[in-house]
Amino acid sequence: MFSGTRIEFEKRTVTKMIGFYCKKLHHSKGVLCAECAALLEYSHKRLDKCVYQNDKPTCSKCTIHCYKPDRRQQIRDVMRYSQPRMLLRRPDLVILHTIEGLFNKKKKR
Ligand SMILES: [Zn+2]
Repeated sequence: MFSGTRIEFEKRTVTKMIGFYCKKLHHSKGVLCAECAALLEYSHKRLDKCVYQNDKPTCSKCTIHCYKPDRRQQIRDVMRYSQPRMLLRRPDLVILHTIEGLFNKKKKR
């Protein structure tokens, strides 16, 4: 299982999601297109500045709220596209994410 900080985990997830999205929709080969590369860089910067850091809720719940409107729409499209498709390819990654989401919900109550 992944061992590292929560932010590192989020970075890995977003990197995989954008990579998958770009490969499928923009037909990039190994390297992200300029648009996706900029989105990825932006996402990582947001994570570095995230006020929650390691107490952060899962990205779909939290990350989006601190994004600028145009970037928010971009990352939403990426998640909407990649999440269900990656579930088939990388069940470990997405299931881990879902489980963490459940735990976070329980903690708040
Ligand atoms: Zn792209």
